[in-house]
Amino acid sequence: MADMYKGGAEQALATLQHAGFLSGFTLGLFKRSRDRVVPVSSWHYAGAVAPPPMFNRLGKSFVNDLLSRTDQIGTPQVARTRTGLYGFAVPIDDGCSVSCIVGCGVRDACIDLVTVENMARESGCDPVALLEELEALPVVTFGNISEVAARIMALIKLLQGMDTKEKLNDDKTDRLRLVGEITSELDRVETYADVLALLSESLGLIFDLPGVAVIRSSSTRWHIEPLWGIDFAKVEISAERAAALVAGHKPHQLAPKELAELLPEVAGSRGGVLPLTARGSNFGALLLLGDRFPVSDLLLQDLLVGRGALRLASLSHEQELVAQNRRTEQLFDIFNQLALIDDVTELSKAFLDKAAELVAATSGSLMLLDSKKDILSISAVRGMNPALAGTLTVRVGSGIAGQVAQSGTPLLVRDIATDGRFMVGRRPRFKSGSFVSVPLCWKEETLGVLNLSDKVDNALFDQADLDLLTALAGHTASLVFRARASEGIRHLELLSVTDPLTELYNRRFLERRMEEELARSSRHGLKMSVMMLDMDSFKLYNDLCGHQAGDRALKQVADILCRSVREMDIVTRYGGEEFCILLPDTPKIDAMYVAERIRYGIEQELFPGEESLPLGRMTISIGVSSFPDNGSCASDLVSAADVALYQAKAAGRNRIISSYDMPGGKALRAFNYFGSMQTH
Ligand code: GH3
Ligand code: MG
Ligand code: MG
Repeated sequence: MADMYKGGAEQALATLQHAGFLSGFTLGLFKRSRDRVVPVSSWHYAGAVAPPPMFNRLGKSFVNDLLSRTDQIGTPQVARTRTGLYGFAVPIDDGCSVSCIVGCGVRDACIDLVTVENMARESGCDPVALLEELEALPVVTFGNISEVAARIMALIKLLQGMDTKEKLNDDKTDRLRLVGEITSELDRVETYADVLALLSESLGLIFDLPGVAVIRSSSTRWHIEPLWGIDFAKVEISAERAAALVAGHKPHQLAPKELAELLPEVAGSRGGVLPLTARGSNFGALLLLGDRFPVSDLLLQDLLVGRGALRLASLSHEQELVAQNRRTEQLFDIFNQLALIDDVTELSKAFLDKAAELVAATSGSLMLLDSKKDILSISAVRGMNPALAGTLTVRVGSGIAGQVAQSGTPLLVRDIATDGRFMVGRRPRFKSGSFVSVPLCWKEETLGVLNLSDKVDNALFDQADLDLLTALAGHTASLVFRARASEGIRHLELLSVTDPLTELYNRRFLERRMEEELARSSRHGLKMSVMMLDMDSFKLYNDLCGHQAGDRALKQVADILCRSVREMDIVTRYGGEEFCILLPDTPKIDAMYVAERIRYGIEQELFPGEESLPLGRMTISIGVSSFPDNGSCASDLVSAADVALYQAKAAGRNRIISSYDMPGGKALRAFNYFGSMQTH
């Protein structure tokens, strides 16, 4: 480091540029020859390339004025432009040349709009763009910037002192050199823990300290933890105490009494507090233990810690980017999986499970709004009794989920018992008082609310959880909307092909399916059977027992038909008291067994008043035809089965007749089957 300063003001500037307290500043070096007497114009920018644009914003005359004042007075100078920008200049006299470090790139809280507009007009640029550029700069006070200038001056003095051989002892030369080496080493360290380890070990060894600790926070709690040279159990401190320790972002000392209050184990030592601050954010501070902390040491230590803080800032930025990428990929995967589901119930369950996994929640629910949009009811639950959950409904506007549905705003609660927004205490159903409630909004319409609670290990939900869930809920809302719409369409379609009395498919559906099944059967060379069924003496049953009893009997018969066939068979109400059943991939003989199961089932079933019918029971007659033997198109197959049915009626009812296979597929003859399984 001593060499660094000997290398000139450029080297000093290079070192300062890495100091944590200067991050955010634009720095530049100006020079003039030592022999010349003042003339302002003799100052020139000393960089290899043109000065950064921020210097132009300050204005040439402003910079020159600042430089000449600094030159005359010999101490750091601070000034404010009419627009509201701040600049400072710190002189460096190394004996052969006069240099000045000029800093800018920060602004006052007030920007003078009129001056900005005039300035934009003079330089021919867009006033709005200029204003936006100025507004983006960090805000400081005159006091802040004066302090920064004074700190630079003190550091430069220190460096100069180190460089003047007669004042220098070997210890200090070494310290400077080591600090210089370690600051560059810090940029190569890849993890947060390694940065802290390198910083603490270097500080401990270079400055011969008995111990180094760190003051930092994890999930809103502040701790002091040992890092190097000492060992003690992690100590928790209040957020206020932590804020006071790192306040001002400046290094400072703690008297033994103050340190003992914080860490009784190290009573007797003094403390040096070096805040870890970079790019406007604070990561806590390093706490150095030692007998004395001369200002010169603190300045050097701060240079090292400031550089460490910069590295921590860029590591956490990198980590944040990696985490963000991972989250985006995760969301994308989940969304792709959910997009394959078009059933609302299944979608609700999958979404709730994925969302819960994403934020490690063990219980929760997805509530969807009803069609009138005033009641939320549970569509999926996790960690709760589904039967109980099914009965829970919430009116929009009341309760927590109801309010979230009404406002359309996500809600994060760390602890409901202490959250002033709610008048309820801890909710006994839940293990912890922390939960999130996120609305599912699609095109300004709220479709439902996702509620998650009881994070694993009783951890608290945080803003990152809420952001993630809000993003997922936004995408999922569109899927819920789509699933609901297609469910609605499916429902309408189903209504149009369903018979309301028996809930069987109707003749329209039969005609459509018959064509499809015939095409499939001929493609795969499969046999298919068709069964026509007609209730016997049903007019009489109606006359004897009433139309309503007739309706109930039809429903009973429909149930027997459904119970008697396979899943793939298609049972339809063909009209009145007639039914038709399609049996894909079924040869006639197999269809006959099914027909007998049906005939027997109805014969055995009890129907009120059936004893007055001619056969003393409710019975059915059945005609069976098969593809391809009795026809190759739907109408031929149906009429063949119909002819057989007519013959069953003519032969005395309560029987099954199958079409004989005839040339041309027409059912001209039939065989008669009655009672038991015998053929003639
Ligand atoms: P067959 O043994 O020759 O088939 O005699 P049937 O009385 O069953 O035949 P017919 O065609 O003369 O009468 C059919 C009756 O079925 C007429 C009608 O009252 C009754 N029916 C048709 N649809 C319904 C219905 O939806 N509900 C009720 N209760 N009866 C129906
Ligand atoms: Mg009939
Ligand atoms: Mg009939």
